[in-house]
This record gives sequence, structure tokens and C-alpha cells, in this order.
Amino acid sequence: MNNQFAVIGLGLFGSALCEELQLQNAEVLAIDIDESKTRQIATLCNHVIVADATDEATVAELGLANFDIVFVAIGDNLETSILTTLVLKEAGVKKVWVKARDKFHAKILQKVGADKVINPEWDMGRRVAQSMLDNRLFDYLELGHEMVLTEFVIGLQQNGRTLADLNLLQQNDFQLLAIKRGEVLHNVLTGKMELQLGDILILAGNKHAIDHWLDTL
Ligand code: ATP
Ligand code: ATP
Repeated sequence: MNNQFAVIGLGLFGSALCEELQLQNAEVLAIDIDESKTRQIATLCNHVIVADATDEATVAELGLANFDIVFVAIGDNLETSILTTLVLKEAGVKKVWVKARDKFHAKILQKVGADKVINPEWDMGRRVAQSMLDNRLFDYLELGHEMVLTEFVIGLQQNGRTLADLNLLQQNDFQLLAIKRGEVLHNVLTGKMELQLGDILILAGNKHAIDHWLDTL
């Protein structure tokens, strides 16, 4: 489990990262070269520091190599983003995740050793399209403690795929309870079972795990 993070660059994206990580009780170090940016985030985040992340000595001093993931959220300044990524990888940071402005930027970041490149506009565009295609009949029936019961209708994209294809039987945090096909409720489920258009999957378990699975469809 990852639990110690640093975020470099406190624009809109970096600040949102810090806020969410902090809300989830992770250890987050927020870094920006601009003091006014660090001041704005100080109320949301426990550890905030003004520093230049392209400086090798600073990176060593902050011990960034010991963090689980260091996220570079410097979007607009290509040179700074690339240089920071390079310095972090050379310092021995295991996982450097970087926000890219476009495909060209993403390609260079991969070349200099970024472990994951994120393009928020592209990713979000795809995600929104997925929500537009969402096949759930109802949102959720909340069962408490983030547990939910929900239904999902098989659409054209999943038609003919098996339960094994969709990774439905080996999930740890939620379960496929049954499949409603017409008037019949199937509750003996095997990996080989092929889904048909209009089948209704009945799922129960952790809400985030179910959402995560839906995102993979
Ligand atoms: P968003 O769209 O999420 O607001 P952005 O991609 O437009 O972000 P910027 O607004 O440029 O990114 O924010 C990047 C942040 O990175 C700025 O707050 C800037 O001060 C900071 N930054 C720039 N260079 C460095 C550096 N060398 N070290 C640390 N932080 C830096
Ligand atoms: P019974 O439970 O007795 O079979 P029913 O067939 O009327 O009753 P459901 O199967 O729950 O009840 O749903 C009625 C129909 O409406 C189904 O064919 C279902 O696929 C369709 N349906 C429900 N919600 C949606 C939706 N959001 N989009 C498309 N079709 C939907």
C-alpha cells in the first residue's frame, strides 16, 4: 500500500491531489517554488514547503527518494517539468508520476524515465464518455460503510464476453451475486458464462471497487 507522497507544483491539479490524499489520511508533502501557492494550500495540507524541485541538492535534502510516489504537477512549463522528472529519477525516486500537457510532452517524459504519465484532459474526456455510456439502472443502494448494492445492464460493448473476460469472479472487494436474464435469476456463475445484451448483473460490495471495475469496461 502506498502511503507517503510528495506533490510538486500546486496549480489546480496539484492542489486537488494534495487535498484528496490528505483527506484519505495519507502523508503528503506539497512543494512549490512560489510562496503564495504554498500559503494557499497550507490550510488543506500538513506539510508544505517552498522549494525549487529542479535543484538536485534540494531534492536530496528533502529525502524525496524515500517517498512512495512523487507527483510532478508542473504543466505549463515543459522544460521545468522534464528537468524535475529527470532530477527525481536520478535521485533514485522509485515512482515518479507526471502530468503531461500533450502527447509530445508525454513522450519526452517517458524517455526521461517517468513511471506514469497522466494527461488529465484526455483521461477525463474518456472518463466522462464512460459516464455518458454508463449502463447502471440505478446509482446505488447504500448499505453503509461504503458498501453498496447496484445493478449493471450488459450493453453492446460487453455482449458475448465471458465473466472471466470481465474479471468478475476474482474481485476481492465486491461480488457478483447473480445475473438476471429475462425471467430467470442465474446464481451459479462460472468464468465461461457468456453475457448477453440486456443481462442484468447484480453487484454488491465496496463502492469504490465497483466504480473502479466499471472504469475498466
Ligand atoms: P493547473 O492546470 O493544474 O492549474 P498547470 O499545469 O497550469 O496547473 P501551473 O499553473 O503552471 O500548472 O502550476 C504549476 C505550479 O508549479 C506553479 O504553482 C508553479 O509555481 C510550480 N512550479 C514551477 N516551477 C517549479 C519548480 N521548479 N519547483 C517547484 N514548483 C514549481
Ligand atoms: P420483472 O422484474 O417481472 O421481469 P420487468 O421486466 O418489468 O419486471 P425489469 O426487468 O426490472 O422489470 O425492467 C423493465 C425493463 O426496463 C427491462 O427490460 C429493462 O432492461 C428496462 N430498463 C430499465 N431501466 C433501463 C434503463 N435505464 N435503460 C434501458 N432499459 C432499462
